[in-house]
Amino acid sequence: MAAQQTFNTCRNIWAVGRNYGEHAKELGHQAPSSSTDPMIFLKAGSSLVAPGASFALPAFSGDVHHELEVAFRFDKNLNLTEISLALDLTARDVQNRLKAQGHPWSLAKTFRASCPIGPFVTIPQGLNLEDIHFTLHVNSELRQKGHTRDMIHPVEKLRAYVLERFPVEPGDILLTGTPVGVARLHPGDRLEAEIAGVVKTNWQVTANG
Ligand code: ZN
Repeated sequence: MAAQQTFNTCRNIWAVGRNYGEHAKELGHQAPSSSTDPMIFLKAGSSLVAPGASFALPAFSGDVHHELEVAFRFDKNLNLTEISLALDLTARDVQNRLKAQGHPWSLAKTFRASCPIGPFVTIPQGLNLEDIHFTLHVNSELRQKGHTRDMIHPVEKLRAYVLERFPVEPGDILLTGTPVGVARLHPGDRLEAEIAGVVKTNWQVTANG
């Protein structure tokens, strides 16, 4: 039910690049300063994949990476009242070419099925948004382990910034950046993402490409 609602109402997915210093470094970048503006990019709302669903990797890339991210949903007053986890799937080979050419990232970031999402739940009373631990297992092996206190731009700053600059609508989703540990996905991979005690979800990569 929650997933269905997401699909009916999400038009835009607002995402931030390089919001965890150790991840910026693993891609060969300096960690941005918290005094700079966040680097925001857009994924199409139509790129969502439902909790529990299978998705295919795009044929034009040989290096699609998982980026596990804490996700929030804007309510009718554009407050962030619901939380989940998402994968900001990224065609890393394509993105590297685009970066070298100075081109925008859309081809690498918003292909079909590029945003597997978990079920949204109301943010529990007392949950400190800067003290959330979250994990991604691939084929039962721990791949990414994040803690939101390591964000360069915290959630409230991201929210204020996208509301100031972009045409955010109720039902839109905010992705808050990925911690270190991004890696290539393969056909048949089984993915499990969790914020302990808050939300747990899974997806599978389609077996035959
Ligand atoms: Zn990302």
